[in-house]
Parts: sequence; structure tokens; C-alpha cells
Amino acid sequence: MAHVLLLGGTTEARLLAAALAADSSGLRVTSSLAGRVAEPRLPAGEVRIGGFGGPDGLAAWLRAERVTAVVDATHPFAAAMSGNAAGAAAATGVPLLALRRPGWAEVPGDRWHRVPSLDAAAALLPALGRRVLLTSGRQGIGAFAHLDGLHFTARSVDPPEPPLPASLDVLLDRGPFSLDGERALLRGHRIDVVVTKDSGGAATAPKLTAARELGLPVVVVERPPLPPGVPAVPDVPAALAWLAGLAGLAGR
Ligand code: NAP
Repeated sequence: MAHVLLLGGTTEARLLAAALAADSSGLRVTSSLAGRVAEPRLPAGEVRIGGFGGPDGLAAWLRAERVTAVVDATHPFAAAMSGNAAGAAAATGVPLLALRRPGWAEVPGDRWHRVPSLDAAAALLPALGRRVLLTSGRQGIGAFAHLDGLHFTARSVDPPEPPLPASLDVLLDRGPFSLDGERALLRGHRIDVVVTKDSGGAATAPKLTAARELGLPVVVVERPPLPPGVPAVPDVPAALAWLAGLAGLAGR
């Protein structure tokens, strides 16, 4: 039986798992989550949780579970996992596809500052504002911990752990977020600068619209590159088409 491993943790991974689970033609699909979030939104079908133990551990898992294709549908910033997937695919010969939603595009009225890393975002912030909405995720907050003169409102799914900025409000919340809600958040916390990763997708984009409306600068952390040689598609239908075209999966 063909066996597809979906490296997940994203909306697209859940949509792909649901589409494959709805197909009753005997394909085995396993979704994999890192286990970072205390109460993850579980995808349809078989799920495993936790790391594999680097590229070698993943390669061993692919062999043991007779995986016939891997779709790396992790978040665009989960670069370590994407690198591991590329290494394991090269070692085992299992076909690998990256499912990456497109990044966000700047439109007239935006005041974006693109930076290559969270550290670069932290270096730029004091020149842009004093009251920061930080939406770069729980694991990224430490990069801003040394900025004593600024106040941070950080939004994350689970509580962040030290090191943390001295002046910090934490909002525990999970997208999708509405435009009205983002407007109210920016006004209510008197935010004057926003920090985000270029995650792309609709669920967390309204903050960009709200920032534009209010004329606020937004520091946008650029994505890490995909590992070289890994084919990539932007959406679930294209990933389904890639899977359908694989020799081991065609005509199942
Ligand atoms: P990462 O830095 O690329 O990965 C670190 C390690 O976590 C990997 O080496 C791997 O451990 C394990 N891991 C990551 N994703 C995994 C998966 N889907 N299944 C099993 N193990 C996984 O990853 P991250 O940035 O911490 O993200 C962790 C997860 O959260 C990802 O699945 C990602 O899709 C999701 N996520 C990340 C972000 C973000 O901004 N980074 C945002 C939303 C969701 P081993 O080496 O032991 O295999």
C-alpha cells in the first residue's frame, strides 16, 4: 500500500490530510506534528507526534514504515525540519515535495521593512516605535528580550518562556484573526509598530491590513530558503496533483 508522510503543523497540511483521508482508495497517510503546541488542531487520519531524531532518524522511519512519498507541509519558517526532510529523502530515494503557501505581497500604503532575521528585526525596532505588537511566535520572543526601552504585546498560542522582554503583555490566541479584531488590538494596546514573519496565508493577514489603515510600520522577517533541489508547490490542489502523478501512487 502506498504510504504518504505529511510533515505538518499548518492549515495547508490539515487541508491536504483531509483531502487524502476523504479518498477511500486505500492510501495510507500519516501526519506528523512536532509536539510544540499543547493542544494542537489534529489533522484527519493517522497522526504521530514528536521529532524523528534528525535526518537519520527520519530516514530510518521512512524505511521502517515503507513510506512512498513525503510532503513537507511544515510552516515556511520550520527550516530545520525542511532540511531534515531533504536529507532523508536524498538518503532513501523517497520522493519529496514542499507545500509552501506564497508569502505576503506589499501593497500601496504599506510601510514594510523587510529584514532577514528576528535579530535584524530587533536591531531595527527602536528606530521605528515604542509599543510593539510581536506576532513572530512563542519561540521567537527571546530575540527581543534585551530591548528594555520598548513595550511588547506578544501574541502566541501557548505561553512563551524566558528570556522575555522586561515590559511585556502576552495574548494567548490562535488564528484566524478578523480585521475588526486586529484593528481593535492595535488601537487598544496603542501599538506603533508590528513585527511579523512572512508566514503568508489568510489566517493572520488582517494585522497587515489593520497596520496599513493606521499607517503603522511593519517589520517583516523574510523566509529562510527551501533546501536546494526540492520541488515546491503553493497549494493543496497542486500537492494532490503531484501525488497523483507519482508512479507508486498513480492508479491506486
Ligand atoms: P524546526 O525548527 O524546523 O524543527 C526543529 C525540530 O522539530 C526538527 O528537527 C524536528 O525534530 C522537529 N519537528 C519539526 N516539525 C516537525 C514535524 N512536523 N513532525 C515531527 N517533528 C518535527 O520547526 P519549528 O519552527 O520549531 O516548528 C515546529 C512545528 O510547528 C512545525 O511542524 C511547523 O510546521 C509548526 N509551526 C511552526 C511555525 C514557525 O513559525 N516556525 C509556525 C506555525 C507552525 P527531529 O530533528 O528530532 O526530527
